[in-house]
Amino acid sequence: MFERDTSTKPPSRQDLAELERPALEALLASRGIERFRAGQIFRWIHRRGVTDPDAMTDLSHELRAVLVRDFYVSTPVIGGRERSVDGTEKFVLGLADGRRIESVFIPDTPAMTFCLSTQVGCAMDCAFCLTGKMGLVRNLTAGEIVGQVRVLTEALVMRDERFNIVLMGMGEPLHNYDETMKALRMLADPHGFNLSPRRVTLSTVGLLPALERLARAPFMPNLAISLHAPTDAQRGELVPLNKKYGVAEIIDACKRFPLKKRSRITFEYVLLAGVNDSPQDARRLAKLVAGVKSKVNLIPLNAAAGIPFERPSDEAVNRFAQILADAHLTVSVRKSRGRDIRAACGQLIVEGQKRSPAQRLATLAFSG
Ligand code: SAH
Repeated sequence: MFERDTSTKPPSRQDLAELERPALEALLASRGIERFRAGQIFRWIHRRGVTDPDAMTDLSHELRAVLVRDFYVSTPVIGGRERSVDGTEKFVLGLADGRRIESVFIPDTPAMTFCLSTQVGCAMDCAFCLTGKMGLVRNLTAGEIVGQVRVLTEALVMRDERFNIVLMGMGEPLHNYDETMKALRMLADPHGFNLSPRRVTLSTVGLLPALERLARAPFMPNLAISLHAPTDAQRGELVPLNKKYGVAEIIDACKRFPLKKRSRITFEYVLLAGVNDSPQDARRLAKLVAGVKSKVNLIPLNAAAGIPFERPSDEAVNRFAQILADAHLTVSVRKSRGRDIRAACGQLIVEGQKRSPAQRLATLAFSG
């Protein structure tokens, strides 16, 4: 006869922050709990920012006890917060395993924007981007991506306000496709933030297989492509991935990308003095994107120690923009926000986690 084994450990607790509402419903149903409770729990966590089951007052005491015993909600912890003279705020967030990421709040009117990270570090190693110098440490989970929004809305008292999301923080979102898309579905849930896909912009360096998947996804964010150069020879020097997926292939994929009414693809173009900012580059770029329903967003380089490029003069930027405008393209120059707190594009790097020689150099220069 076997005795019942009472010494087995309780099943390890499950993180509710990682569950989409349908998954939560199924989980509750498997325990004989009504499905609609999932909506209530999801609302507490995502809409109201309450993670302690004992404070979820519309749940029975029994269910609250189950939640306390078998579940938990992990939330990134604010490890640093800096405010720029222009109002931009950079948050350093600590994750459960001690890794750190950065998220940025950009208070532009009329749209408030959160710039979110999708990975710790990045594998793409673009020549002008500091995050790339870290290499890829790991992917973020969907819960950690959504967690950035939960933390920022709470810290900024913005839970009931409208905001936009740009996936332009640390990482390449299409290199972490499944968790990124899961996060977007969770953010869109009407029981949660109820975020419309129109308010989300996904920026990618052009990972083509994932871009093809995105073209068929039910949740379709706005798309921004980091182009940065009109020819393979130039782009290959700046974006290592270009050796795999070249300029012509990316433009082709953009032409096929299903766009909603009135929507356009944004081509991002970092301007580097003497590298990709000549009038000839502008004319080539105009020709290249002419057949795509698009607009061009010029980003004058945010220079940093360890980045071997310089920002072009305002005259060079204006001249480049004018050539595009003369070719009847819609062109904008990205305002650089939060440069004084190193929160601007390509400046997100968390010192002291995985230190490559280049990162050590950058860190030294920052603290100097
Ligand atoms: N991995 C995504 C998101 C990157 S961040 C992507 O590559 O699109 C968003 C934009 O900032 C990208 O276009 C990126 O190329 C740009 N960027 C990176 N470093 C920069 C820097 N130092 N100055 C200006 N823009 C930079």
